Amino acid sequence: MESLGNDFGVMPTADLIADLTPDVDDAAVDASEQAIIDRAAEWAWTYVAPRAETWERERRFASEAFASAAAEGLCGLLVPPADGGKGISQVALARVLEEIAAVDLSVAFSLVCHNNLAGAVSRRAPSELRARALPSLVSGERVGAFLLTEPGVGSDAAAITTRAQRDGDEWTLDGAKAWATNGTTASLLSVYAQTDPAAGHRGIAAFLVDGNSDGIERTAGYDLFGGHGLGTNGISFHECRVPDADTLVPVGQGFAAAMEGIDLARILVSAMCCGMLRTGLATATSYVRERQAFGSRLADLQGVRFRLADVATDLEAARLLAYRAAVALAAGRPAAVMAAHAKKFATRAAERRLADCMQVMGANGARRDHPLPRHLATARLTHYLDGATEIQDVVISRALLD
Ligand SMILES: Cc1cc2nc3c(=O)[nH]c(=O)nc-3n(C[C@H](O)[C@H](O)[C@H](O)COP(=O)(O)OP(=O)(O)OC[C@H]3O[C@@H](n4cnc5c(N)ncnc54)[C@H](O)[C@@H]3O)c2cc1C
Repeated sequence: MESLGNDFGVMPTADLIADLTPDVDDAAVDASEQAIIDRAAEWAWTYVAPRAETWERERRFASEAFASAAAEGLCGLLVPPADGGKGISQVALARVLEEIAAVDLSVAFSLVCHNNLAGAVSRRAPSELRARALPSLVSGERVGAFLLTEPGVGSDAAAITTRAQRDGDEWTLDGAKAWATNGTTASLLSVYAQTDPAAGHRGIAAFLVDGNSDGIERTAGYDLFGGHGLGTNGISFHECRVPDADTLVPVGQGFAAAMEGIDLARILVSAMCCGMLRTGLATATSYVRERQAFGSRLADLQGVRFRLADVATDLEAARLLAYRAAVALAAGRPAAVMAAHAKKFATRAAERRLADCMQVMGANGARRDHPLPRHLATARLTHYLDGATEIQDVVISRALLD
């Protein structure tokens, strides 16, 4: 990794955090998947690490990272090899994203949204639409975005109000979407819309919309306290006409389709939190081994040692929960409750323990010439991704009590 020019000499590097890589059951990841994971880690440390702070400072979508990821073959991870993708397992996917998020969560989550869309097109699109759309998603020539959330509707996704009205062999879309990751740049939008308000969630369909169509307006990227590389924005539709042939998910199946990948998505967020926390622990442990105070290393002070021991325990626990859920999902076992536990625990652990890592580094912990402040900001955002923390509690308590 390039030196970022700080004056206290401790930077996380791939080598430094290698000792902290998770102990995932060997059987869960085969040799070719391990090669993809290793290459993704190398790419993240060599390409993304030196640039991540720039995208954050410039408050813009990490477009160069997306293009570079595409060249690395990271845009069709859930698409079968016969269609040009990598077709890796859910466990391997979680490991790939953990490695990328260890460097930058924005780049990792941007790829999650794109890969999920490519996977959905591969599994669900009618053959003619699939043939038209899939190659450009797998190659990364087109950036994908998933538009479910609206300015007035988040957790209660069945209540979306964006309207789709049939008109001959076309549909007309009207309404506003919010929080579209990749939205400032995406050229293929999967838009969830209500075709019949009286039918509730049974009226929802999804359309694959060309981002350059007439009747689409985009806001600038949201001004956030972190995660600007995600290019998250609002996108609205005004009499936007979409051919019926671009229906990705037919009326009646839209809500189920939107929820279809939710367990995997929550597992991926958990794994990404483990990646950020791993970097936090590696950075803090190296720092306290070097820094002197009151005649000894910070690493010799029991308060510092025990604080980092707590970070390590939470990282172990987050990993066990995340990969237990990933292995269950990959084996076709029910994973919804496991995924909810994993996401709730890992997001909380990431935020709290990254702050602990920064605390043992004193004021240098707050400097932006290492990734911890950037990770801490995006750790806060993970509480909302793919279902807020409280929605995980809805899932867990339902299993416990109903
Ligand atoms: C960085 C980022 C990227 C995102 N990317 C996308 C994207 O690409 N596509 C997309 O469609 N969406 C995206 N989202 C939106 C995300 O899915 C929503 O933020 C999430 O679903 C929560 O909705 P909300 O923020 O509107 O909160 P609300 O639903 O308004 O909830 C507000 C609060 O009430 C709590 N609450 C809600 N319902 C219950 C309940 N039943 N019981 C107890 N508490 C409850 C919530 O947990 C939360 O704390 C993104 C969000 C962020 C922050």
